[in-house]
Amino acid sequence: MTTDKRFERTLVTSALPYANGHIHLGHIAGAYLPADIYVRYKRLRGERVLYVGGSDEYGVPITLTALKEGVTPQDVIDRYHNAHAAAFAALGISYDIYGRTSWPLHIDTTQAFFSKLNEGGYVEKQTMELWYSEQSQRFLPDRYVKGTCPKCGFEDASGDECENCGAQYSAQELKSPRANIPGDNSTPVLRDSAHWFLRLPAFADALKTWLDSHPEWRANVRGIAYGWVNDLRARCITRDTDWGVPIPLECEDIAGKRIYVWFDAPIGYVTNTRQWAIDTYGDESRWLEWWKDTGTRLIHFIGKDNVPFHAVIFPAMLLGQGDYVLADNVIGNEYLNVFNRETGKSEKGSKSRGNMITVRWMLSKVSPDALRYYLCANAPETKDAAFDWDEFAARYNGELCDVVGNFVHRSLTMTVKNFDNQVPTPGPLDDDDNALLAFLPQQVDAVAEALDTFHFRLAVERFIEIGRRANQYFDTKAPWVTRKTDLERTATTLYVCCQVVRALCNTSAPFFPNAAAVLADVIGVTLPKGGPDGGPDGWNAAKELLPSGAPLKQPVVLFPKLDKDQIAEWAEAHARGEAQ
Ligand SMILES: [Zn+2]
Repeated sequence: MTTDKRFERTLVTSALPYANGHIHLGHIAGAYLPADIYVRYKRLRGERVLYVGGSDEYGVPITLTALKEGVTPQDVIDRYHNAHAAAFAALGISYDIYGRTSWPLHIDTTQAFFSKLNEGGYVEKQTMELWYSEQSQRFLPDRYVKGTCPKCGFEDASGDECENCGAQYSAQELKSPRANIPGDNSTPVLRDSAHWFLRLPAFADALKTWLDSHPEWRANVRGIAYGWVNDLRARCITRDTDWGVPIPLECEDIAGKRIYVWFDAPIGYVTNTRQWAIDTYGDESRWLEWWKDTGTRLIHFIGKDNVPFHAVIFPAMLLGQGDYVLADNVIGNEYLNVFNRETGKSEKGSKSRGNMITVRWMLSKVSPDALRYYLCANAPETKDAAFDWDEFAARYNGELCDVVGNFVHRSLTMTVKNFDNQVPTPGPLDDDDNALLAFLPQQVDAVAEALDTFHFRLAVERFIEIGRRANQYFDTKAPWVTRKTDLERTATTLYVCCQVVRALCNTSAPFFPNAAAVLADVIGVTLPKGGPDGGPDGWNAAKELLPSGAPLKQPVVLFPKLDKDQIAEWAEAHARGEAQ
């Protein structure tokens, strides 16, 4: 079979979303939906799999939002953490734990990481020149200072990074700096400040060996990772802020400083696994096998902007601990942009443009399954994709509704009506029957093969193909005609159709959990839940036949069609900036 038997368990992470804005469709297409489909698939197979996520709650942008709104950073993270958790739950993103980096346990995990790296000689102190506001008597990290980008001349660039051209630079390179704090736009001065750096070059050889051992990774991830590994520099891991994990050192220099958010965020995966072990078993030691036993297969799902952190920096931090597993794959997706119907072009989703579509807004209009279908079928796997309302309507209505939903509904309706709410008893099978029955297990394996290799678009396409073949068969066999002339032939046709429905039911579960649950109830099959401890194999059960006489309930519409006028209204609301 396609599943890798070297591993006893799979640990899946999705990038921790930042608790400073709502989850939008671009996030989902990149780091969350593919991970959830993969995890649900593994659970259905009965394999041991744990899915860990959480909110990223420290860092300068959060304190700046709090300052601007006149609330506390805690208020900001509570608001967005709760909103994130609700949006994920509504879409069916099925974390085993959705944690928070503001949890006290996270201070412990992060400080242990820092201390271990420090003991290993991987942390060094450097003095840097940083912007300091004499008016506010504080250093100005990141977005606390604005100025002109030294590379492109953009006048609203942050202290160390330009949002316009993506350039990164050191503070003193910023031109025409000004403080960016409510009530303080003064011109800052450069002042010395002591900070701690992670000595990334010390890990260059180990990182290279590890990357070399994974030629199967996506080209975009490998390209970015090698680019970084070939040019590693020490990276600052502390910041002048009071919103973050305290630095576990005993010296005066740490006053007013915290561990920087990029360092602690990925450690959140470990913290949340620890918390999950406590919550689930009352035994914290149960987290250890997931991170330290070589039988664990660790897989990170991220957007491509996160590749350096998950394919270089976090692995270096793990190597510095000495006893952690490294990722077996890093699935870095490209971006989901937004198609602008007025200009006919795709553009980046952005808050300031007002063109983003949040999950909470979208799910007030369409079902989770409809959204999951479009975002999977149009996933930005190897190149950027764009959300387009016309395409959304065409694909959901024309593929999921018309091909799969329609087949299931018409074949089950006819079966229930003509064969006493039971799977009929077939007569002799002809070539068409045998061909379709032989196709089903092959196609179930083909969907599995695509999922095992992280080709989610292909996987859902192969799933739809089951429906296409079944519709051709149904039209050829025309049971609505044979019903009047040849009841045995009709029974055989609908018996075969019931087997297709069974295969569709189990294989749809990773993609469309709501529809799968409804259909499973109609045809009387059980979809095992699975989880971190494993369970029975409900994936290969898709290849088993429903026996003649098995009871069937009245079918319901699995994928209701969306009305064209309604979609046009939503598209206009989106264009007016109401989808935030
Ligand atoms: Zn720039």
